[in-house]
Amino acid sequence: MNKHENALNKKVFRVGIYLRLSNEDKDKLNKDDASESIKNQRNMLTQYIEKHQEFELVQEYCDEDLSGAGTYRPEFERLIRDCENKKLDIVLCKSQSRFSRDMEIVEKYINNKFKEWNIRFIGLSDNADTFNSGNKKSRQINGLVNEWYLEDVSNNIRSAFHSKMKEGEFISPFASFGYEINPNDNNKLIIDPVASLIVKNIYNLYLTGLGFTAIAKYLNSKNIPSPSLYKYKKGIKLNVNSNRPREEIKWSTNAVKTILTNEIYLGHLIQGKRTTVSYKNHKIKNKDKSEWVRIENTHEAIIDKDIFNKVQITMKERTKPMKKTGVVHIFSGKVFCLECWHYMRKKNSKDHEYLLCSGNRDGYDDCINKASIRYDVLTNIVLDAINNKIQKFYDEKELENLDSIKKENRFNKKIKALELQKIAIEKQISKTKNYLKNLYEDKVNGVITLNQFKDLVIEYNKNEDIYNDQIKSINKEIAYYKMKEKSSKNNKKIFSKYQKLDKLNRIITQEFIDKIYIGKLNEKTKSRDIQIKWNFE
Ligand SMILES: [Zn+2]
Repeated sequence: MNKHENALNKKVFRVGIYLRLSNEDKDKLNKDDASESIKNQRNMLTQYIEKHQEFELVQEYCDEDLSGAGTYRPEFERLIRDCENKKLDIVLCKSQSRFSRDMEIVEKYINNKFKEWNIRFIGLSDNADTFNSGNKKSRQINGLVNEWYLEDVSNNIRSAFHSKMKEGEFISPFASFGYEINPNDNNKLIIDPVASLIVKNIYNLYLTGLGFTAIAKYLNSKNIPSPSLYKYKKGIKLNVNSNRPREEIKWSTNAVKTILTNEIYLGHLIQGKRTTVSYKNHKIKNKDKSEWVRIENTHEAIIDKDIFNKVQITMKERTKPMKKTGVVHIFSGKVFCLECWHYMRKKNSKDHEYLLCSGNRDGYDDCINKASIRYDVLTNIVLDAINNKIQKFYDEKELENLDSIKKENRFNKKIKALELQKIAIEKQISKTKNYLKNLYEDKVNGVITLNQFKDLVIEYNKNEDIYNDQIKSINKEIAYYKMKEKSSKNNKKIFSKYQKLDKLNRIITQEFIDKIYIGKLNEKTKSRDIQIKWNFE
């Protein structure tokens, strides 16, 4: 055979190799091991090609997606396109399962399209080879086994996750905004000191009367990073002012709502709310509430229980915020008709805002309470009522206060009396000291005997001890009454802080008022009955 003949006879096959990380690689997964697995696959395939002179490596395709059923396999798709465009003669893989564990894909390409496109598929470790027609059955069996394996892995992962959830372990790779994953324990949450402040701020803003949209606008106006932007920036030192958030990662109405309703901020974990349809279909499906896994007190709370509950109640009470400003009006959810108990709706005219019984709208004409009430009129009425309430409260305090002045005087008198007592005793002590001096002189002058002198000195010492004890206990009493006197002076200071309210806001109405009932207008007197149900009496 001459050179020419040799070249003519020699057909060269263009080989594409396909490499992929798989679940088997997952356990040992850090980046080095992963590239090791890819390297091993590549070595195995290139050695095989070198042994076959007629094979020529023309393209490498490498996907680093872990799950064999993963929908995102860009290199796989490139491989298929190149096959379709006849750029390859042979597709070479470590095994059929590396190509795909999904039976449908194996069927579609290896057993059908490749035949149509005249492409040979070779899987080395499981001896799959479409060139060998007797090989088809074993390839299909391999394919089935691979698919069972995949379903098994998927179910195992699900049940492992489920038992972790039941033990109150956090299983998501990302912590909810406000928390971070404990670096010492991947399944526990710890408070993120920066983001948790933003969460607290959102709860406070909501209670001041802002709606979800208004809060989102406010946060964006202050360049506070949204949860996704924050996540993106984490690890980088956070500088709120210098980094303008990109449009698509600004705060949204929904992001605010999610934060205001998430019980994670109470320290509870609620997991398993969503699942994927199956191991093949990665579409997200919501689970029924009864299937959620809820474990309380798994981590430190960010929001106080009272505040959280207040927000949930307010959320139920609130009607839709006014479209223009996103601000909820200060009586929202609190004003009802005294005649029919329907809710009083807010209406706007050119000049004024009104409240009108909703029992009268759109064909319903059941309520005798037809006249609207002006919003500013009601605001003034309620403000006066609240001021009266506060005034009364402080009047009562004032009475107590007078009482405390009396007490204070009493303490003062006590102290004075005790001090007088103390002076008397001290006089007594100095008197007996003089007496002792005289006694000594008497003894020296021979007026009394030594024995008499001794007895009198003992008597004197006894008395002095008694006097000293008395002074000690008087000092204690004085200190006690002085302390009492001081605390009653402090009370007086607190009471004098009170100032009359001159403007209503949502926090005050929320704090004071449960409901307001508006009666019908008396046409003769032009007055109407307005009843306020207070949160306290
Ligand atoms: Zn009514």
